[in-house]
Amino acid sequence: MAELKSLRCPCGFEVRSTSEDEIVRMAQLHARDIHGQDITVDQAKALIQLAA
Ligand SMILES: [Zn+2]
Repeated sequence: MAELKSLRCPCGFEVRSTSEDEIVRMAQLHARDIHGQDITVDQAKALIQLAA
């Protein structure tokens, strides 16, 4: 069973999923749309933590 993971942006945005790929995709969209920044897959993955 996949573990629930989360990524929290400093602005307060949080995405939770059992799929790292989905979290990365959501984080990249969020970074571009909200912050005007392009982040790499590796950068996004570095921010992923296990959801408490
Ligand atoms: Zn943000």
